[in-house]
Amino acid sequence: MSQDNGIGWSQGWARSARIPVFDYPVWLVLCRGGRARLREVCQRGRGAIRLPAEMLSLKLPQLFDIHQVPKVFREDSIISGYRHPRSSALDCILSSFQMNNETINIWTHFLPTWYFLWRFCVLCSTLNFLTDSYTWPLLVYMMLICVYPFTSSCAHTFSTMSAESRHICYFFDYGALSLYSLGCAISYGYYVMPECWVNSWLHQYFVPIAIGNTVFCTSLSCYSRFLELQFPKRSKALRTIAFVVPFIFDTVPLIYRILLCCGGSCSPTGALSNHCYHLLFAFLTCFLFTAHLPERLAPGCFDYFGHSHQLFHVSAVVGSHFQMEGVIADMTSRRTWLLKHGMMPSFLGTIGALAISLVINLGIIGIFSAPLLWKSCRSPNQPHSSTCGCKEQ
Ligand SMILES: [Zn+2]
Repeated sequence: MSQDNGIGWSQGWARSARIPVFDYPVWLVLCRGGRARLREVCQRGRGAIRLPAEMLSLKLPQLFDIHQVPKVFREDSIISGYRHPRSSALDCILSSFQMNNETINIWTHFLPTWYFLWRFCVLCSTLNFLTDSYTWPLLVYMMLICVYPFTSSCAHTFSTMSAESRHICYFFDYGALSLYSLGCAISYGYYVMPECWVNSWLHQYFVPIAIGNTVFCTSLSCYSRFLELQFPKRSKALRTIAFVVPFIFDTVPLIYRILLCCGGSCSPTGALSNHCYHLLFAFLTCFLFTAHLPERLAPGCFDYFGHSHQLFHVSAVVGSHFQMEGVIADMTSRRTWLLKHGMMPSFLGTIGALAISLVINLGIIGIFSAPLLWKSCRSPNQPHSSTCGCKEQ
């Protein structure tokens, strides 16, 4: 019985895997029309072998050098490994499994998304996000720490479908980063604020000002893309300012708390050491974003591995990890004191603030995207070709 089951299972498996199966004794093949049966089985076998061969013949997208792609796609000191500037969505997805100058950028934010999602799921199982309003700032922060690397990964994946799509992809990337800065402000406002600033004017208006910062950040960073070709330095400076301003605003209470601690007004905690590591990585992230090192020293040598944007992604994610640990540690260890002396987080000040900011930021992205979508609708659709005879744009 068990043997029959075993044979049945193996034959079923073999059929589903399209491997030829002899349904009769092998010696019968050699007599009574056996040759015809043998030929039939061989045909079936060939069919089974052809399937993976067809899969293997699926061509990966062709790559190009810097002078073969339009200016808008070029990256400073990256010479090779560019994808076709009018790739299809499928080509973009396939290209994430092929070594090109964006592959590591895609994966260095895609994999951390799953790490942060896992941390979020663990917190969901230990904290009561539904009814305990004290946890809502952390809920908002955790949602945004998952969203920003995922959006960035998608932006890097689909940024070579057209010049217009490239801009729109990065508008969403900047929008997600801008909202992440709001998540930081909400969690810092409720958990990280130094004791002497709790209930101060700044504390009360911390979240509304942070919402204003997201408007400033998204607008300025999206606008900076329009200057990229004509004024690359000005564009880079504006984009850096767009992200540095909300970061400084969010971090001022933390830096003040660290300074107080250094002055001996508090005892160093595990949360503060995490916050310090976060600040170190935040400065490193900013440096990598602006310096374009190491590829600037040796153009073409870091096209695939080790260029500044990849390091920038890794540094940002490591910084976010330490920040998350610091926020969680503060939330847990300061709970009793904050609930006694501070404000109870409200729905409007946390989830409501995120919803308002999300709508405003999507509106800003819509305003910047509309002329590009209009332009791409009016321009004739260029066919996707295997050779890239691209003119400069
Ligand atoms: Zn990026």
